[in-house]
Amino acid sequence: MHELSLTQGIVTICLQHAQGKRVTSVTVEIGLLGSVVPEAVEFCFSACSSGTLLEDASLVIERIVGRGCCASCGSEQLMEQRYDSCCACGSHAVLIVAGEEMRVREIEVED
Ligand SMILES: [Zn+2]
Repeated sequence: MHELSLTQGIVTICLQHAQGKRVTSVTVEIGLLGSVVPEAVEFCFSACSSGTLLEDASLVIERIVGRGCCASCGSEQLMEQRYDSCCACGSHAVLIVAGEEMRVREIEVED
């Protein structure tokens, strides 16, 4: 359940940026190739934000398609799954370049 500590991190970041204002909306990017489960983040968010300035904020989760670079032929490609093979040569030695991360993209606060 590493989503709990990740979500706590998100809440902490938001509270720092909010500077005492109420947060209305938080947009979080979650890479498709990562192990983070969006539903678990949503669940943890309501728990972690309870009693804070984020309590009424809506959580928007955007899934980010991954990118890989083939170690055999060097071609770069989009990856929807961690174990996708190279679309150019079929090799499974594709190194993940992006899409495993989870980060806060946008925070909206009350005026
Ligand atoms: Zn390849």
